Amino acid sequence: MYARVIVDVPTMQTNQPYTYQIPSLFSEVLVRGMRVVVPFGKGNRLVQGFVTEIVDEAEKTDKLKDIMQIVELEPVLNDELLQLAIWVANYNFAFRISVLQTMLPNVMRAKYSKVLRLVEPDGLDDLPEIKALFIDRDEVPFDTDNVDMALVPTLLKLQKQRVLEIGYVVKNRAKVKKINALKPIKSVEFYEKQRSQLRPSAVKQARLLSYLIQSPRLFVPVKEVIKSYQLDYASVKQAESKGWLIQKPLESYRIPKLSTPVNKTQPLTLNAEQQEAYTNIANNISQNDTKTFLLEGVTGSGKTEIYLQTIAKALTVGQTALMLVPEITLTPQMVRRVKSRFGDDVAVMHSGLSDGERYDEWRRVQRSEVHVVVGARSAVFAPLKSIGLIIIDEEHESSYKQDENPRYHARDVAQWRAKYHHATLVLGSATPSLESRARAQKGVYQLLTLNHRATNSTLPETNVVDMREAIKQGGDDVFSPQLLAAVKNRLAKKEQIVLMLNRRGYANFLVCRECGYTPRCVNCDVALTVHKDISRLVCHYCGYSETIPTKCKNCGSTRIRQFGTGTQKVAEQLQQQIPQARVLRMDVDTTRKKGSVDRLLTAFGNQEADILLGTQMIAKGLDFANVTLVGVLNADTTLSLPDFRASERTFQLLTQVSGRAGRGDKAGNVIMQTFNPDHYAIQLARQQDYEAFYHQEMTFRHAWRYTPYYFTVQIKFEHEKVDESAKAAYEVANWLQNIVNNETIMLGPATGTIPRIKNKYYYRLVIKYRHDDKLMQALESLMQKGQQLQKKGVTIMIDREPINFM
Ligand code: ADP
Ligand code: ZN
Ligand code: ZN
Repeated sequence: MYARVIVDVPTMQTNQPYTYQIPSLFSEVLVRGMRVVVPFGKGNRLVQGFVTEIVDEAEKTDKLKDIMQIVELEPVLNDELLQLAIWVANYNFAFRISVLQTMLPNVMRAKYSKVLRLVEPDGLDDLPEIKALFIDRDEVPFDTDNVDMALVPTLLKLQKQRVLEIGYVVKNRAKVKKINALKPIKSVEFYEKQRSQLRPSAVKQARLLSYLIQSPRLFVPVKEVIKSYQLDYASVKQAESKGWLIQKPLESYRIPKLSTPVNKTQPLTLNAEQQEAYTNIANNISQNDTKTFLLEGVTGSGKTEIYLQTIAKALTVGQTALMLVPEITLTPQMVRRVKSRFGDDVAVMHSGLSDGERYDEWRRVQRSEVHVVVGARSAVFAPLKSIGLIIIDEEHESSYKQDENPRYHARDVAQWRAKYHHATLVLGSATPSLESRARAQKGVYQLLTLNHRATNSTLPETNVVDMREAIKQGGDDVFSPQLLAAVKNRLAKKEQIVLMLNRRGYANFLVCRECGYTPRCVNCDVALTVHKDISRLVCHYCGYSETIPTKCKNCGSTRIRQFGTGTQKVAEQLQQQIPQARVLRMDVDTTRKKGSVDRLLTAFGNQEADILLGTQMIAKGLDFANVTLVGVLNADTTLSLPDFRASERTFQLLTQVSGRAGRGDKAGNVIMQTFNPDHYAIQLARQQDYEAFYHQEMTFRHAWRYTPYYFTVQIKFEHEKVDESAKAAYEVANWLQNIVNNETIMLGPATGTIPRIKNKYYYRLVIKYRHDDKLMQALESLMQKGQQLQKKGVTIMIDREPINFM
């Protein structure tokens, strides 16, 4: 018997399974989808691998190596996921091993560490220092904790003489949490007799005995018993040695908790629009029919309620449901809503969890102990079986696309899985991506629309403030008089306010007012960003930092000032102008700690603050009835992004954030400050008119031949030398030019939007195409070619449907 194994070595040669011999010891237990440790390459270095197939025959059986270890006795990937991995890898020009690793919790990624192994003990006779390392052991971890680095030259010499060898060990970091539990083993009569014989001072023993008498004959966590019977560990230990009970470590799950308990909620009675959408989706779930719905509903139209009720439907027909939400921002509130309906039947998967929690939630899903999964992008790989429904909330969000290898889009993966399971896929948004909306237009997806808010409240009224005028009239460039007046008005009424500072495309750098000089990163072609909290200038691409200068490096002037603004500065300014306002700040700095988003939002929900001031992260999902004013400080900064989706992104962001206003009984208002008041993205966001935006934007996309009329692929080239990077880009461009068909358009090669990052130079090529099989084949062979270029130090990245044109 042989196993086909994908090894943990991400190169083109290893992008297919290798055949290994299965030692008889493992022949009974080894199955497809298990993790194993195998020797690899000339040096037989140990690496982790995934068994993708077990076969009876191998092509060449001589020189086949043995599987060394099995990592765990259950397979970690089922047939569906193994097939999916191949598809994801091929579709996104990625290596299979990186897809397999993306599918699993982080801790299942093997960690390799170096060890020193003693081969010839006699060779150390004259070297007491080194001999001492190997007292009682043949293997020493090769790191600074265990080995004095001064010994390294000698160690390397000994390695040459084959006295020692340097090897690698594969560490499995996936640890199951165990807690101690105890169980009574004697009869009630026995315990009663013991109790009657106790000394009066033995109070803890007496309490423990009353527990043993009353409790069921089951293992109960020791901690719980100690707590509820006011015992201590010593008393339990003592009882164990007397043979009153036994203790045993039990497996326990680390289930992520929310900051406050979740109350159970009942399904709401759907309104007519919701009912219509629900019926369509629910019928499709019953029919087990592969179908995609685009649920286009204005903000607050009750999409989430439809999600919850359709999930319930999937469960009643014996199927499972997967719900994706963008990033962690949305998760605490959304998780709360889902858990309030389905309780412990929900597993949560997102990057805000600890490694242990993620591993345990994954195992609960893997073992079919839960039927509902809520999570961010990578949760699309959750090992749910018999999926009946997949929901992608805010389907237009760019975070569904992974911006590193494998560069998959969760929507594509969801589509594949829906087909596999004959499941229903629901894409929900107030502002669908143009791609999805266009597919609905063509009838590929079924469009379901919700035009009204669920709670009878109307969509907020929006005013656009022209900042050019506002500044002329004596306002500053952060707060217009209109916005300040509106904020004060709401404060007086004890209503709440959400203020958004649009950080994307918005720099926060220093400029010399004399000569225009801006401090830039030494490694990258970007301006450094001011971080007042640590008093440094920081590069957001490589992390380089320096102290904030007091004088211009170029001309020596002290008139060096901050350009742009951050949330912290806005908060200070707000406090000066409206001292009585209680402000909560929400940005990357205030949400770094685990659970901080949940805490901030809970505090705001409890009206412990009047104003929630934040970056884009406050635009989505928040549902607070008392918020009646939303202010956007700079509506237009996203318009200047070097990206054909700049208008779409701006429109989406403004519509989303506007949707936070007036969700309760009180009417809401939105004020958008902008220097581009006439831009269609801003005007149509003001009217909350998605359909008009869609039609307008589609005419531009058509004219400029962009998505969804054309597909796009971006190829990026990276090298330490600018010439080499350019050379590779031009070579590939010339080669492709002769292959692709006439309709295909090639843009570039051009330097990256940021030409140099971390001392690497970037070139890129953007290809727009409609149907081009030859291009696809060429891109596949480019992966092979990439392998050769890699040897010359050039890295190639192929990005299908890129969302980031940096
Ligand atoms: P969306 O997800 O479309 O932005 P939500 O699902 O958050 O909208 O709904 C907005 C508000 O309307 C929520 O407070 C929700 O509880 C309420 N809601 C939704 N559906 C109903 C309904 N059928 N009856 C009463 N209230 C509803
Ligand atoms: Zn200067
Ligand atoms: Zn840098």
